[in-house]
Amino acid sequence: MATKKASNKVKKVKAKAKVKKVKTLKKVKKKVVKREKKIVIDTNKLLKLEEARKYVIDVAGEKGLEVFEFLISKGEMEENLLAKKLKFEKANAIRKFLYRLYNKNLVSYRKVRKNNKAWYTYFWSANPGKLVFIIKDMYEDEIKQTKKSMELNKAEDFYVCDICNRRYDVNEALQNDFRCRNDGGVLTHVESSKVLEDKQSRIDFLNKKLHALDQIVK
Ligand SMILES: [Zn+2]
Repeated sequence: MATKKASNKVKKVKAKAKVKKVKTLKKVKKKVVKREKKIVIDTNKLLKLEEARKYVIDVAGEKGLEVFEFLISKGEMEENLLAKKLKFEKANAIRKFLYRLYNKNLVSYRKVRKNNKAWYTYFWSANPGKLVFIIKDMYEDEIKQTKKSMELNKAEDFYVCDICNRRYDVNEALQNDFRCRNDGGVLTHVESSKVLEDKQSRIDFLNKKLHALDQIVK
């Protein structure tokens, strides 16, 4: 009798442990899901940003921007239907633009084989989040470069050629009669403090842009 009781107790403890284990697993799963939560982009604001539009045009042309904007507004779309909607003659013609966008991760595709046919059907969708990060990187990179050049500029005033922008310090400018060695251009005096001021206001401007970009991501 006593042994039976004891073994029952053991069973109960084991059962409790099992429940606890399951609960822990559930917790872990929940955490993972939370971490994978997708960021939401205010795509209207994003597509109004001049830098964002310019970047997409540089990558895939005006037509590529049109494809990208259309995919953002309509969501995932099958390739042939997409070509038809955007008035491309064939899916082939639109693929060139899709691949250019795809090379920069601005769009992705899903391929599906239907009814055991030999070919795949492609479904394309836009990745506006990637564009936000690209623009953010651009701003941050320029801030970094500007700060670096501010350090270099702190030294003293200098002269700059009005044709090729080559820099001369005061002694070099004097030796060359205030003419550029490359092209004979006139050397103009540049006050270091003015340059620093300009660069600082550029940094302030970029920081404002970065802040505005953060508002696009919800
Ligand atoms: Zn020059």
